[in-house]
Amino acid sequence: MPIINIDPDICTGCQECSKVCPVYAVEGMAREKQRIAGERCVFCGQCVQKCKSYVSVLENGVEFYNRKRDERQLPETVTEPLFAAYNTSRIAGLMAALKDPAKFTIVQAAPAVRAALAEDFGLPFGTLSAGRLAAALRRLGFDRVYDTNFSADLTIMEEASELVERVSNKGVLPMFTSCCPAWVRYMENNYGDYTKHLSTCKSPQQMAGAVFKTYGAKINKVDPAKIYSVSVMPCTAKAFEADREEMNGSGCRDIDLVITTRELAWLVRNAGVDFAGLPDEGYDDPMGEYTGAGAIFAVTGGVMEAAIRTGYTLITGKELGEDAVDILPLRGTEGFRTAEIKAGDLILKVGIVTGLKNAEPVLEQLKAGTLDLHFIEVMTCPEGCVSGGGQPKLLDNSDTAEAYAARRRVIFEHDRALPKRKSHESGAIKKIYSEYLEKPNSHRAHELLHTSYRGAPH
Ligand code: SF4
Ligand code: SF4
Repeated sequence: MPIINIDPDICTGCQECSKVCPVYAVEGMAREKQRIAGERCVFCGQCVQKCKSYVSVLENGVEFYNRKRDERQLPETVTEPLFAAYNTSRIAGLMAALKDPAKFTIVQAAPAVRAALAEDFGLPFGTLSAGRLAAALRRLGFDRVYDTNFSADLTIMEEASELVERVSNKGVLPMFTSCCPAWVRYMENNYGDYTKHLSTCKSPQQMAGAVFKTYGAKINKVDPAKIYSVSVMPCTAKAFEADREEMNGSGCRDIDLVITTRELAWLVRNAGVDFAGLPDEGYDDPMGEYTGAGAIFAVTGGVMEAAIRTGYTLITGKELGEDAVDILPLRGTEGFRTAEIKAGDLILKVGIVTGLKNAEPVLEQLKAGTLDLHFIEVMTCPEGCVSGGGQPKLLDNSDTAEAYAARRRVIFEHDRALPKRKSHESGAIKKIYSEYLEKPNSHRAHELLHTSYRGAPH
């Protein structure tokens, strides 16, 4: 089944979804059923966020509602409206895996999930639920509750090292970030000759998957074949990324199953867990530790800021002082913004694209040879992962700006409140390199944490 679907029984042909589709993949005449051109779709789920046509028990009757809910393989406890545009749910598979005693289940949750999950339980926009999220995952029965924020720090170690290597040795520049799978698919589909500009780093989700079934198998003394690795993502495209053929660096599928933030809320409710009443709990050691740099991956500009916090040290051998860790010129929500960052003798020229529609002019500059930058972050969704297609749905369009601003604010507050704010300062990161990966960009790191793309060879 495709990752993103439009249900013709529910679609009214309002075309609101086509207005937000960054790749013009929604097809159909006005007031007629729309369909998605699967070859162009990048699975971002912005159509899923936008669609307001639904079925409900109240308006369509129990029988029709239940049929739709069953078609989507959702638990019987789901009672909320079901919308015409939707992502294929994998939670039935997860519920079965959690009951299987032969499986050792490991879960990770992305940085943006904790900035929005609480909304689905009636808590206000901007409620951070890092601790309640860990508690909820434990109540669902996962054997280990690790964290994508940990592997976001790992991504920075690899990606900042790759950037410094490219800058120092006249490698391919500008280098683009590669943690947004919709962006990667867009590059492969439309600019295949330029994929050598993508960082070879896997995304945090995939780095986590690769280390859970190798390093994680060792420290938990469990057979990698028994590990069932699950991720909770704000993003509908992450299922596509996990299913990519090459994502098997561990020797097995690195990630077995992906669910979205919204689906996690359904599961928590289905399990009868009172989310709002949960205590704050920690993530499991060692792959549950993270710094502020890992946390800010959730927002536009965050990967860039995290990379510079570490890249600065790699380039200069010095630490950014406390007063310079917040790199304010990188923040904001404009579709394309640039900044120059001084690191010793080097002026690092960087760009940030947020919203995939804003990438095309930048790539046309690249083609024309007029793009004078070292490093560019691209995120498909309007304000980065906090506004991902798998996040809690904003039923009233007027709430969108307020919700996105609140989610971004709480992520930066979380960053400021953490004791360590640079990836290279994390004890868990130091430990995994000393015990297992040796150093960034080592042979083993390359085998597990880097990838290649469709398009011209590197
Ligand atoms: S999928 Fe939803 S938003 Fe798109 S045309 Fe149909 S009803 Fe409108
Ligand atoms: S998932 Fe994204 S790319 Fe695909 S149709 Fe929806 S908005 Fe367009």
